[in-house]
Amino acid sequence: KREGKNRWCLFDPREDEAAAAHAELIADVRRALAAGNEFRLFLQPRVALTDGTIRGAEALLRWQHPQRGLLAPAAFLPAIELDEVMNTLGDWVLDEALRLLQQWHDAGHRAWMLSVNIAARQLRDPSFAERLGQRLARHPQLDPRRLELEIVESSALEGIDALERLLEQCRRLGVAIAIDDFGTGYSSLAYLKRLPASVVKVDQSFVRDIFDDASDLRIVEGVVALGQAFGLRVVAEGVETAAHGEWLLRLGADEAQGYGIARPMPADAWASWVASWQPPPSWQRWRSIARS
Ligand code: C2E
Ligand code: MG
Ligand code: MG
Ligand code: MG
Repeated sequence: KREGKNRWCLFDPREDEAAAAHAELIADVRRALAAGNEFRLFLQPRVALTDGTIRGAEALLRWQHPQRGLLAPAAFLPAIELDEVMNTLGDWVLDEALRLLQQWHDAGHRAWMLSVNIAARQLRDPSFAERLGQRLARHPQLDPRRLELEIVESSALEGIDALERLLEQCRRLGVAIAIDDFGTGYSSLAYLKRLPASVVKVDQSFVRDIFDDASDLRIVEGVVALGQAFGLRVVAEGVETAAHGEWLLRLGADEAQGYGIARPMPADAWASWVASWQPPPSWQRWRSIARS
């Protein structure tokens, strides 16, 4: 009936089931948000490739589900990404990230950045920047430059002009912007040219396979060169081994993130990771590469 009069459509029971599961998941996310203690931010460190200095972390969402256990974003985000509840969850992520930044600040760690992933749905809200400003105002001691918003290419739902305007507003608040998963979408070059970003993140799927796949290596080389040409800091995701790090440094990347440094960890494990972090011995060698 929604489609208007005089129209037929076939009824597919599988579609009906999928829609029901979808609605159920959305309701479950709302329940969890109300319960207040099921979502968590895990932290994955980002370090300088030259000497292993900790630059900060990316906040990665997890759901400690009472029946299903610890869920990664792939298990629930795709299903809710386009729903209104994504905004509520996204707001929770921002609040929690600011709370963690405040903890770092209070402990004297005032140079680390914390990056959060922002879903396209959140950027469709024209009041996003204004509301972000209100959140930042609740933490008057925090330097907004410590917060970084990771944006993916699919965020230009309303066109790149609208996204550029909105991100300019965020930028004026002082927060940093990173282009995430670079190279996996279709409008990469326009993004580099138009968006007020200071960081580009090379997608994990390309970095991981540089030793096995010559085209992935070429893509990574190209992205690093492009990032540099645009004056952006280049962060390599998916750095799984010291050899990956060494190559990325040779190619000119600035920072690394990946299982080779640390897996995402609960926020309360961060301090002890920091205390125990030692760059792999081969990084001494990288230093001399960086200098030459
Ligand atoms: P992303 O932003 O590209 O985050 C990096 C993903 O790569 C994370 O997966 C991380 O655990 C994984 N990863 C890091 N290092 C390595 C490595 O060396 N090897 C491999 N194979 N994987 C690595 P995760 O945590 O499952 O998150 C997946 C995606 O979910 C994220 O990709 C991001 O797009 C989305 N996401 C996570 N948290 C949030 C959030 O709070 N809000 C929104 N909107 N999206 C989020
Ligand atoms: Mg990210
Ligand atoms: Mg990424
Ligand atoms: Mg990714």
